[in-house]
Amino acid sequence: MMKNVDAIIVGQGISGTLMSAEFLKNNKKVLVIDDEKSVTSSKVAAGLYNPIVFKRVVKSWLIDELLPVLNQSYEYIEQCCNAKFHRPRTIVKVFVGEDEKLQWLQKAQQPAFSDYLNQYISDDTFNDCINLHHGLATVNKAGNVDVKSMLTAWADYLKTKESYVNEAFSYNDIELMNGGVKWQNYKAKYLIFCEGYRAINNPFFNNLPFVPAKGELLTVKIEHLNTGNQVLNKGVFVLPLHEGAYRVGATYVWDKINEETTSEGLNEIMQKLHKLVKSNIEIIDQQAGIRPSTKDRRPVLGKHPNLPQLAILNGMGTKAVLLAPYFAKQLFEHLYHQKGIHPEADIRRI
Ligand SMILES: Cc1cc2nc3c(=O)[nH]c(=O)nc-3n(C[C@H](O)[C@H](O)[C@H](O)COP(=O)(O)OP(=O)(O)OC[C@H]3O[C@@H](n4cnc5c(N)ncnc54)[C@H](O)[C@@H]3O)c2cc1C
Repeated sequence: MMKNVDAIIVGQGISGTLMSAEFLKNNKKVLVIDDEKSVTSSKVAAGLYNPIVFKRVVKSWLIDELLPVLNQSYEYIEQCCNAKFHRPRTIVKVFVGEDEKLQWLQKAQQPAFSDYLNQYISDDTFNDCINLHHGLATVNKAGNVDVKSMLTAWADYLKTKESYVNEAFSYNDIELMNGGVKWQNYKAKYLIFCEGYRAINNPFFNNLPFVPAKGELLTVKIEHLNTGNQVLNKGVFVLPLHEGAYRVGATYVWDKINEETTSEGLNEIMQKLHKLVKSNIEIIDQQAGIRPSTKDRRPVLGKHPNLPQLAILNGMGTKAVLLAPYFAKQLFEHLYHQKGIHPEADIRRI
């Protein structure tokens, strides 16, 4: 028997999760299709978000608009799953030199940065475990999401609503109808692609400028270090997990795109980590994934220009945790309330 849903969503990474949550929040029905690959960008991601771009000490793109939606969206998912995934944290920026410190102090005095940057430059030594030549400062309103746990819990929640199937989606299996689409025994008004970097093979959206970027991460134990709830950053981030374990990364590689871990990736992260940390480091795990980045480093979303029943939410690059809540909401409002998409994220810019 044919089943009617409002949208079929292909892919349940961070994008597909936030997209489907937006539909459920608005009392719409979805079917999410995912092939449950063991390695995906979302399953590997550290899940961090940072309101500041450290290189230039500027605010991250649209940060004042993104954060309120981020808080609401993860709270909604947590309520549905009856579990916690989002953890607000402070990032401790360890300065590389006096110039960087000076630039920071200047910015911290500006009202536009007062929510995010602390002016106080601490001499906290973290049990004498870190190399501290030029001091450190902290960033507020940062945090992380335990993405892997959230994806599993959200899939389980969708299953309770008969809104999830574990299957490899094939483009040939869809039938386009007037004002909708058919897939197997499902009929939907919209089909939304959230396939991550694998969208490079999508015949409907093959003009999009994806530039997939491989990344690697380590899980390590660092002797005597206790950062509490704080994330350290100096060339690499050091995110506390549990029992003295930390996630450290990440690398960026634009050639040799695959999901294999490499000795180059390991050495690069360890070299940077040794510049920050003085105490003994034990490597526990190494992971690699492929980020769905784009040429202009902006997300891509919107309807297909000629087939308005097809849409896409992708291009989250290095910042899915921060961008996906806001842009999933924007795509939903575009589909149902004809609201505009941010011109820098709209697929029509391409
Ligand atoms: C090492 C590393 C560290 C990172 N750290 C962070 C971080 O700290 N913070 C942050 O915000 N971002 C981080 N990122 C980036 C982030 O992981 C990505 O931007 C994000 O995961 C993209 O999510 P997505 O849902 O668009 O794609 P994906 O995670 O790739 O999800 C796509 C899903 O669709 C499924 N799929 C695709 N095609 C099909 C098909 N035909 N049939 C069925 N299923 C299909 C896939 O199996 C997958 O489950 C990191 C990435 C890497 C690699």
